[in-house]
Amino acid sequence: MPERRFFADVGRYFDRAAAFGSHPPGLLAQVRHCNSIYRFDFPVRRNDGSIDVVRAWRAEHSHHKLPVKGGIRFSPHVDEDEVMALAALMTYKCAIVDVPYGGAKGAVCIDVREHTAEEIERVTRRYAYELISKNFMGPAVDVPAPDLGTGAREMAWIADTYQAVRGDQIDALGCVTGKPLSQGGIAGRGEATGRGLFYVLREVCADADEMAPLGLSTGLDGKRVAVQGLGKVGYWVARLCHEAGARIVAVADISGTAVDPRGIDPAALRRHIADSGSVAGFPGAAVHDSPAAALEADCDVLIPAAVENQLTADNAPRIQARIILEGANGPTTPEADAVFQSRGVLVIPDVYANAGGVIVSYFEWLKNLSHVRFGRLERRYQERADNRLLDVIETATGTTLSADDRGQIVTPISELTVVNSGLEETMITAYHKIRETMRAVDGIEDLRTAAFHLAIDRVAEAYVQRGVFP
Ligand code: NAD
Repeated sequence: MPERRFFADVGRYFDRAAAFGSHPPGLLAQVRHCNSIYRFDFPVRRNDGSIDVVRAWRAEHSHHKLPVKGGIRFSPHVDEDEVMALAALMTYKCAIVDVPYGGAKGAVCIDVREHTAEEIERVTRRYAYELISKNFMGPAVDVPAPDLGTGAREMAWIADTYQAVRGDQIDALGCVTGKPLSQGGIAGRGEATGRGLFYVLREVCADADEMAPLGLSTGLDGKRVAVQGLGKVGYWVARLCHEAGARIVAVADISGTAVDPRGIDPAALRRHIADSGSVAGFPGAAVHDSPAAALEADCDVLIPAAVENQLTADNAPRIQARIILEGANGPTTPEADAVFQSRGVLVIPDVYANAGGVIVSYFEWLKNLSHVRFGRLERRYQERADNRLLDVIETATGTTLSADDRGQIVTPISELTVVNSGLEETMITAYHKIRETMRAVDGIEDLRTAAFHLAIDRVAEAYVQRGVFP
């Protein structure tokens, strides 16, 4: 099989969408190219005293808006092409959901399963220091976040390293997002990408006009869902779908696939994996050694939420799902995408669908810059105002509301409610904008092309408005 070039695949999606517009070639080239990439190697002392030399990258795809933004991936399979592709997807993603950033991505070529926590901390801090010293990180220039193999713990180490070097900057905490709540993080960030995916799926499934051509009924209740990847993204989208009444019929992680047509409780499976190290032996489920088995499961909705390049020309004809919701970045090759289009499968593309993480990261960055928790200023004012309004209504109507009824109406604002409401609003507004683009541009027949088209227009417009192009 020829080696896949992920950046070229993203470029093919870009070109397909750009062909429906009329931007001059030079402007399109500027939008498409990766502006800068920093590749470096650094030594890491292992606990046994030996030294490993580790390769790392930070790619800044587009500076049409600053700071640039994108996750940091720790993976033994990562290479420069992948980092550039993921940075490009971030540029388009931020444009689609109207978050004011350019796109970036970082990566360190290590297998976290082969390192202790102390070693990972040394790698993370050294990586952060390299970025800081080359001006590839900072609240106004480049703001990383978690991705595959990293999480809140690594983001806390990065923030701490940044503060050690640039502690006199008042906005230093805005140098990275996805931090723990106690370290300047925000409520709801951990589940944000999965929650964003859930909001999209719920919106799409509520639309009878969308469901009819797929041969599906409306609503999430009873929908059969298969998920590949039970990490930060896969777990949350599976859990929220399960709570909304969908049946999670197959779940894969790196150790294999658990299948149970009666439905799997994602929380129970996650506990089982944490205790035993794999999906093997999960009560009631048939287990396959291959993580790819989840992809071909008998289901209505497939959510690839692990790694790229999973749906290919080879397995696309065997995929049974009628809806593919891309949680991972780049799970579908252009060849597979063409098969899905010809078979009338609805693909909700990564470049839009998994934007929940960057949306809530944006809220976290705003919180760090404003130095105040969302809801803190207005919470009590709002509560009193609601109670006063109800008092007036009671007096005017001569009725008395029960404490329960009052409690239903007077709901105190919390950071989490504000964040989730902003996430829902942003995801749903962007979905309808993509649909509107599809209707407005003759010839665009799929959501991915429409999403890319929208992104190209917005990034190109930013360059033109800055005077870079006439
Ligand atoms: P994670 O490290 O938390 O979880 C990855 C999961 O995938 C784990 O369950 C792992 O066992 C599984 N996995 C790894 N390789 C696999 C394989 N070959 N087959 C099956 N399962 C495999 O990572 P994550 O943060 O959940 O990211 C998953 C995907 O979502 C990545 O493509 C990432 O770029 C994308 N993404 C993440 C975020 C975020 O906020 N974390 C945002 C947008 C997109």
